[in-house]
Amino acid sequence: MSIKSAEIICVGTELLMGQTLNTNSRFLARELASLGIPSYRQIVVGDNYDRLYEQIKESAGRSDLVILTGGLGPTTDDITMGVAADVAGKELVFDEESFNNITEYFRRLFRNMPKNNRKQAMLPEGATILKNNNGTAPGAMFEYSCPTTEDPDRVVHFVLLPGPPSEMSLMFTNEARPILEKMSDSKFITKFVHLFGIGESAAAERISDLIDAQTNPTIAPYASEGECMFRVTQRVDNGEEEKDLITPILDVMKERFGQCIYEIGDRPLKQVAYDLLLEKNKTVCFAESCTAGMVSSEFVDIPGASQVFMGSVVSYGNKVKTNLLGVSDDVLENLGAVSRECAQEMAEGARKLLGTDIAVSITGIAGPTGESAAKPVGLVYLAIADEKGTDVIEVHLSGNRSRVRHVAVLHAFNLIRMRLS
Ligand code: ATP
Ligand code: MG
Repeated sequence: MSIKSAEIICVGTELLMGQTLNTNSRFLARELASLGIPSYRQIVVGDNYDRLYEQIKESAGRSDLVILTGGLGPTTDDITMGVAADVAGKELVFDEESFNNITEYFRRLFRNMPKNNRKQAMLPEGATILKNNNGTAPGAMFEYSCPTTEDPDRVVHFVLLPGPPSEMSLMFTNEARPILEKMSDSKFITKFVHLFGIGESAAAERISDLIDAQTNPTIAPYASEGECMFRVTQRVDNGEEEKDLITPILDVMKERFGQCIYEIGDRPLKQVAYDLLLEKNKTVCFAESCTAGMVSSEFVDIPGASQVFMGSVVSYGNKVKTNLLGVSDDVLENLGAVSRECAQEMAEGARKLLGTDIAVSITGIAGPTGESAAKPVGLVYLAIADEKGTDVIEVHLSGNRSRVRHVAVLHAFNLIRMRLS
C-alpha cells in the first residue's frame, strides 16, 4: 500500500514551553519530502495522556502515516509508546532483544541499568522494532486498522521515534526510512558518503551549490561526533526509466572533498582501517596515553581483529613512557608528554617493542584539568610509524573529556587509513 499523506507529532512539554526548539519536525519534514510522501501537518503536544491520545486518534483519522517523536524515555512522563498502543488497541509486550540492547548500552558506559529502563523494552505486540544506536529507547513501527465507510480496509502506519535529535535522526535514517521507501510510489537509490577531517557546516558549504540546486537526487548532511556524512538519494518514479543520477554527484563530491571521504557505503572508519591493514598484510599496535586503551578496545570490536592487531601499551604515566617505550627523559622534561616529539618516540618505541609493521601513538590533554597556556584542553598529538618513517600530526579537538577522547580515537584510525590508501 502506498502512503498518500503523513503528519508529524512531536511530544514534549518542553517544546510547548519554548525550552527546546523543535528541530525534529524540520528534519522529518525534509525526509518525507525526499521520500515523495506528502506531509500535511506538524503538531506539538505536551506529555499529557488525554491530549496525546486525542491527538493521535485525530491524526490517524486523516493521515496514512503518523510519525511521533519524544516521550520514549524511561520516566513516568514518557508515555508516547503506551498511548499510541492504546489508540491502536495493542498490548505492550516485553521484547527480549530490545532489553538486551538496553542492558548492553549501560554495560558499555560502565553504568548499572536503572530498574525503570526495563519499561523501554515494553513494545506494542507485533510491532517492527527500530534499533537505537545512539541511546537506550528503541522505536517502533506498527499498524492501526482504522476503517472508514469509504475504505473498510484502511490501515494507518505509526512510527515512534525518541526525542533526542541525534537518536531520532539516526534511527529514522537507518531503520524507518528503508521501510517507508518500500511504501512509496517511487523507488529510492541511496548512497552514504562518509567524511572525516571536515566539520558538517564546512562540508555543506563546500557543496552548497549542489545542495541548493538539489531536486533529484537529494543531498542531506548528517553530523555525528567527530565526523559527518551525506545521504545522496535518487528517486525513480514507478514506470520511469532508471538513469544513474548519483554517480555524477559522487564525482563532484570526490573532487571537492578528496581524501576527506573515507567511505562511500556503510563501513565505519575503523573498519576501513582494518580492511586496508588486512589487504596490505600489515600488523598494527597502539601506544595510548590520553585514550588509555580506547583505540585498542574499539578496534577489537571488529571480528577478526587478531589478524592484524597485535597489542598495545597503555602508557598513561611518564614512567611507562620511558621504561616501556623508551621515550627520552629529555623530551619529557623539556617538551612534555603532550608534544610532537613524545608522540613520535611513543610510536617508534611501541613498534620496536611489539614488533609490528605499523604503530600509532596518541598523547593529549583530554581535560577538563591539566591545560596550560601553551597546551590547551583538546590538544592531541598522534604519530604513525612504519618502515618508511614516522609522521606526527597535531590536532585541536573541541568538547568535553569524553568527546576529545572519542575523536582522538577516530584520528588514530584515520592515520592508518591515510598511510595505507
Ligand atoms: P529520553 O530517554 O531522553 O527521555 P525521550 O524519547 O523520552 O528521550 P523526550 O524526553 O521527549 O524524549 O526528549 C528528550 C530530549 O530530546 C528533550 O529534552 C529535548 O532536548 C530533545 N527533544 C525532544 N523532542 C525534540 C524535538 N522535537 N526537537 C528537538 N529536540 C527535541
Ligand atoms: Mg523523556
